[in-house]
Amino acid sequence: MHPDWNEKERGLYESVVTFCKESLQHDVGAFDARSEFPKEAWQSCADFGVLGWRVPVERGGKGYGESLVAYLMEAFGYGCEDNGLAFAIGTQLWGVQTALLQFGSEEQLEKYVPGMMRGELIGAHAMNEESSGSDAFAIETTAVADGDDFLLNGEKTLVTFAPIADFAVVFAKTAPDAGQWGISTFLVDADTPGYTASAPDEMMGLRTAPYGRVLLEDCRVPASSLLGKAGAGASIFSHIQAWERSLVLAPHIGAMQRLLEQSLAFARERKRGGAAIGKHQAVSHRIADMKLRLETARLLLYNTVRKQQDGAADLMDSALTKIYLSECLTQSALDAIAIHGGDGYLTEAGIERNLRDAIGATIYSGTTDIQRNIVARLLGL
Ligand SMILES: Cc1cc2nc3c(=O)[nH]c(=O)nc-3n(C[C@H](O)[C@H](O)[C@H](O)COP(=O)(O)OP(=O)(O)OC[C@H]3O[C@@H](n4cnc5c(N)ncnc54)[C@H](O)[C@@H]3O)c2cc1C
Repeated sequence: MHPDWNEKERGLYESVVTFCKESLQHDVGAFDARSEFPKEAWQSCADFGVLGWRVPVERGGKGYGESLVAYLMEAFGYGCEDNGLAFAIGTQLWGVQTALLQFGSEEQLEKYVPGMMRGELIGAHAMNEESSGSDAFAIETTAVADGDDFLLNGEKTLVTFAPIADFAVVFAKTAPDAGQWGISTFLVDADTPGYTASAPDEMMGLRTAPYGRVLLEDCRVPASSLLGKAGAGASIFSHIQAWERSLVLAPHIGAMQRLLEQSLAFARERKRGGAAIGKHQAVSHRIADMKLRLETARLLLYNTVRKQQDGAADLMDSALTKIYLSECLTQSALDAIAIHGGDGYLTEAGIERNLRDAIGATIYSGTTDIQRNIVARLLGL
């Protein structure tokens, strides 16, 4: 059931849309073309409080519940055409802050959370490796105890924010023979000797967030940089993934609403053969389908998030949400291009960018194939 937002919450939604439209003035097309991270826009988001929405009030944040944060990220996805920026924020809220807020020691929380909220510290979630990917726990990065320290060696790939992150949540094997129970999680500062970030890697979409590799070569970190207990890495990763898969796509709802409104306006305005193109069933049915996807995806998202907030969600919920929202936006972006004809294909018009951005979500945080595997397994297949 869609949550019944109260007046205050609806006011917050509107304030986010207004903030996006008035304060995020960067030329998204130009930043996308250059694969450039919009630093000023990021700082504006931090100043507006976005990076503190999830952080408890006693730590200086807003302490909003996850469903309200999802609703506000929906507003962000609607008001801001920069899907890469929305994704970048999502990686901090769900990929990094989930780890810190749930498993961080007091010292770790003090060290990282206030700086993240102020926009001064950016974290990366570094799990993926050439050898693992969909087989996430097959990582080869090791962390070997050496006195009171650990020595980390390995390479992380396709990591969002790697080129500019101030620290990374790094997953490494402390007991290589113990399978997934031998994985531990470390908070590693980017200025630690032995930690090298690559130059940015070019991506097809979501190009306003930076991506790259993290190389760890005898990177010495103190035992106090362990996040949670040694051997808890797989549980920490799974916990993060459950939240991330359910919530990182919340801006997709806003993006679908935005594309629907743009397509509707175009279908009413564009005349061909003396009539608005929206009078053609081929066009109007595409718009009807976009509306159907928007409404059903919204229901699924908030149903999952509220269950998760109540501790009642399972892997099935987050997998279904991840599949459905990523595929709905991809299809709606394709429909928007078709409705806009040549303009839809024109880079300058900014419609095609949504398709390139949408495809990313079918891959990151576990591909849609892997999510379908989870659903099938939970159905007993
Ligand atoms: C935009 C973006 C941002 C990312 N950000 C991060 C980040 O911040 N941190 C991080 O750690 N990683 C990040 N990643 C990496 C991402 O998690 C991996 O790309 C993803 O898990 C898939 O792994 P892979 O690329 O190795 O593909 P592979 O695992 O090699 O998969 C290749 C193909 O095979 C299919 N396949 C593989 N195994 C199975 C199976 N068992 N059943 C069915 N099909 C299967 C896959 O679905 C896919 O179609 C990001 C990726 C992208 C695209």
